[in-house]
Amino acid sequence: MKAILVHQPGGPEALRYEETATPTPGPGQALVKLAASGVNFIDIYFRTGLYKADPPYSLGMEGAGIVTAVGPGVAEVAVGDRVAYAMARGSYAEYAVVPSWQLVRVPEALDIQHAAAAMLQGMTAHYLTHSTFSLKQGDRCLVHAAAGGAGMLIVQMAKMRGATVIGTTSTAEKAERARAAGCDHVINYAEQEFDAEVKKITGGQGVDVVYDSVGAATWEKSLNSLRRRGLMVSFGNASGPVPPVAPLELNNKGSLFLTRPTLAHHAQDRGELLWRANDVLGWIASGQLNLHIERSYPLADAAQAQIDLASRKTSGKLLLIP
Ligand code: NDP
Repeated sequence: MKAILVHQPGGPEALRYEETATPTPGPGQALVKLAASGVNFIDIYFRTGLYKADPPYSLGMEGAGIVTAVGPGVAEVAVGDRVAYAMARGSYAEYAVVPSWQLVRVPEALDIQHAAAAMLQGMTAHYLTHSTFSLKQGDRCLVHAAAGGAGMLIVQMAKMRGATVIGTTSTAEKAERARAAGCDHVINYAEQEFDAEVKKITGGQGVDVVYDSVGAATWEKSLNSLRRRGLMVSFGNASGPVPPVAPLELNNKGSLFLTRPTLAHHAQDRGELLWRANDVLGWIASGQLNLHIERSYPLADAAQAQIDLASRKTSGKLLLIP
């Protein structure tokens, strides 16, 4: 089969489109013939070496397709099922072996490409708004990169839960996207001091929670945007990882709470996975949640897809088609 492999961490040129052996499912695993794979920032972190793997390694944490074989002891899925998954590495390929407990059946009403596009960012938005900080009516949140793939889903789910949502984006065009997703207020953080704007919007108080996927560039002002005892959710490194933090800083800024979560710990068993995935896929199928697929690329063009995602020019989901 064809797959993207990394022999040495580095720039986009580190992605090699190669012939490699089609894997065989072992106990508790299924072989999925992929129809589409999601492109996510985590793939860039693995490619550059920010997140570690032993070379040569495969990339891609999200996909959807048809089960073509199962290993011993698999009960969750059968050959011929349409399935989707996230957080098992190796989806930049024609076939992937996936632990069967991580596979979710795709509802008939949903096409396979939307299923591939929904899983990772969708379940992330779900755990952030339902578990990390379980938003309720009247809460106020700040969502950075609100026109991004994860951002637009977080905004929509925060609105479903009745929160007031302040979004940040770097351009006027993206601000329109963020507004269309449901943001009550949008700040252009390339032009304005977003902490001061948040304070103005909230009558000097600050927000209950900041969902910060940008990392290093927004860290300080995100803390400034919180109310006393508010929660800082640092869940990404799009601008680079946040440098080490002194706990006293959280005291000085108002007895703040800090968490640095990952989806892997929020879909950690079959029950939790099905709760989040079925919510996300069901909402998309019923039209309650809008998922924007920005562009699809041939698998061989994975490097270009990563360049585009890192360039801040995209807004929504990028897919690879094997
Ligand atoms: P996006 O579609 O959101 O793209 C990233 C966006 O971040 C850009 O469009 C840009 O929006 C903004 N950004 C700000 N500064 C930079 C910079 N220096 N370089 C590039 N982008 C920048 O990507 P994803 O939806 O795939 O991921 C968003 C974030 O969420 C990532 O940090 C990712 O790691 C994180 N994430 C974390 C998960 C977890 O469980 N912890 C799971 C899923 C995603 P703008 O131009 O408006 O500033």
